[in-house]
Amino acid sequence: MITIGILNLQGDVEEHQIITQKAFKDMNIEGKTKLINILDDIKDCDALIISGGESSTIGMHLEKTGLLNYIKESKIPVLGTCAGLVLLSSKTKRDQILLELLDVEVKRNGFGRQRMSFEAEIDFDGEKYPGIFIRAPYIENVPDDVEVLSTYDDKIIAIKKDQYMAIAFHPELTDNTLIHQKFIQEVQRCVE
Ligand code: GLN
Repeated sequence: MITIGILNLQGDVEEHQIITQKAFKDMNIEGKTKLINILDDIKDCDALIISGGESSTIGMHLEKTGLLNYIKESKIPVLGTCAGLVLLSSKTKRDQILLELLDVEVKRNGFGRQRMSFEAEIDFDGEKYPGIFIRAPYIENVPDDVEVLSTYDDKIIAIKKDQYMAIAFHPELTDNTLIHQKFIQEVQRCVE
């Protein structure tokens, strides 16, 4: 049984729960989700999802609860979407608390503000995928050991390195489980 924790602070927490459970079903895997509020909640989880929201606020919460150090030191697999991507990175223009698990720089709101949100069909790891972008960041300065999973408009929007996956858009707002499935595959590899 795989347990995936979902940080319960901001953003589409419930949607991430629903799509993660759907991905388990699609893959015929026994798994469950668990909401993470405090440090103790994460200790029996095999992985963590950090959803969208406001990355500076989420970062402060992670530090205050002790989750920041736990996530960094335990090497628990993490899927970060939108603000979650920002948090996985090591650098943004603004000084803010980051997990620094992926050695990349991120441009926050790189595709513009809220009213410039959009949907577009993208190519994700060789498959067509419905991308939903809301104040989406993009990724800059990707070193060779970080895998680029998707680009849009010449900008990098999805990356993976080992057990860390970062996505600029909102996979929880579609009913396509491709991205959650890819993450669960990685989690399976880590728990084996
Ligand atoms: N731009 C936001 C941030 O950097 C993220 C937007 C989102 O998660 N939808 O915090």
